[in-house]
Amino acid sequence: MAHMACDYEMIAGLETHAELSTETKIFCSCSTAFGGEPNTHCCPVCMGMPGVLPSLNRRVVEFAVLAGLATNCKVNLYSRMDRKNYCYPDLPKAYQITQFDFPICENGWIQLQNGRKIRIRRIHIEEDAGKLLREGNTIHIDYNRCGVPLIEIVTEPDICSPEEAREYVEELQKTLRYLGISDCRMQEGSLRCDVNLSMRRKGESALGQRTEIKNMNSLSNMVKAMEYEAGRQKSLLEKGIPVRRETLRFEVSSGRTEPMRGKEELDDYRYFPEPDVPPILLTEYEVETLRESLPELPGEKYRRYTEEMGISEADARLLSKYRSVAEYFEEASRDCKSAKNAANWILGPIFARIPTEAEKENFSPPVPAEQLRELLLLHEKGSVSTNMAKRILEKMLDTGRPCSECISREELLPLSADALQKACREAIENLPQAAEDYKKGKTKALKALLGAVMRSTKGRAPAGEAEALLQKLLQ
Ligand code: ADP
Ligand code: MG
Ligand code: ZN
Repeated sequence: MAHMACDYEMIAGLETHAELSTETKIFCSCSTAFGGEPNTHCCPVCMGMPGVLPSLNRRVVEFAVLAGLATNCKVNLYSRMDRKNYCYPDLPKAYQITQFDFPICENGWIQLQNGRKIRIRRIHIEEDAGKLLREGNTIHIDYNRCGVPLIEIVTEPDICSPEEAREYVEELQKTLRYLGISDCRMQEGSLRCDVNLSMRRKGESALGQRTEIKNMNSLSNMVKAMEYEAGRQKSLLEKGIPVRRETLRFEVSSGRTEPMRGKEELDDYRYFPEPDVPPILLTEYEVETLRESLPELPGEKYRRYTEEMGISEADARLLSKYRSVAEYFEEASRDCKSAKNAANWILGPIFARIPTEAEKENFSPPVPAEQLRELLLLHEKGSVSTNMAKRILEKMLDTGRPCSECISREELLPLSADALQKACREAIENLPQAAEDYKKGKTKALKALLGAVMRSTKGRAPAGEAEALLQKLLQ
């Protein structure tokens, strides 16, 4: 049944700022380190004193090109910096150096799991502004962030839901982290999203009037803000009231979007070419060299894990999310018959010890990959049973000691055929009821007998062989 409420659809485009993790700022040699005493990472250049001359950090250009290549963009061999003029206390020189008419990268895309491609209109380079901290009637200003390099990634209006927006940002985060060019922490502000959102009647092709919600500082807030704003616009349109083009902020405590005041309402920036920074010129050769230096990206790893290594989609997503986890997995499973096994050990017992995302991002469990690999190979050869391998891994995780030290000599000795026979016979003797049940056709009763064998052999019995032998003895 059609209903008015279903007649509108959401269209959104995202503008995402990512702080680049260069050591030094974009136009001077001040540190970009996060935190630090306020106003200690500053100099006349990033403070915009008269007479200073900015000098473009070449790493910033390389990082921006890498971001473009990894998101299928065309890299422009000519691009240039412009001045965007505005007067606000976060920017002591009263203009921001950014790119306007000639961005460094254009026309890329990021693909979502549902197959849809979110087109990237452009990626440009710019400098960050300082940070304002309100305390009662006082405003404190920290200029440490002034001149920290940013890239801004602007999509086409291709995003159709808050979930798509979330997935797009997550994909972007993964990619930039793999490249090692940004840590993309929304909470710390090293990744910030502005959401442009409009509604239109389904079936219509023209875009509706949009609003822009500034500075989302977490994915969950972004989703909430988009849901709220879509509902707000829809109820206006249903009443025949036009949506006003305005800049909004998301108020976390009320869960509502509200009009923003201040610099964001300025719309005449009087852009002009930045006279102090020469145009950015790249050669085909430089771009191709950077292309060759790209690491295998999370999407490619995901495809390889699912299509060639037999890993489930959900597991492949977890394993490919962070480069350090992916590299650990690849090293631990090298030469193993079953990569899936390696995945299970990592996502099971090892992830259980490394619960937070931050720890997974810099994945370094107490058991190095080559030690896990040693254990996996012993397990595959049948030298240690699954139960034993579990115990040994826990010991390795507890102590951080190598596999060879965590396996006692007794444990490594293969269980002799005689000992296995003896253990199976004893299990049948000690659990006559289970033996009877099994003979009567309750195949599940074998589990109890197998458990007894495992206990009496301290897990050294190979499960498959023990099961076969028990069945034979019970015939
Ligand atoms: P501005 O100059 O205000 O930044 P742009 O045209 O550069 O505006 O667009 C900024 C972002 O807004 C882009 O991501 C774009 O896809 C998105 N956008 C533009 N128009 C709409 C619209 N009507 N509805 C939703 N998103 C839009
Ligand atoms: Mg904008
Ligand atoms: Zn400086």
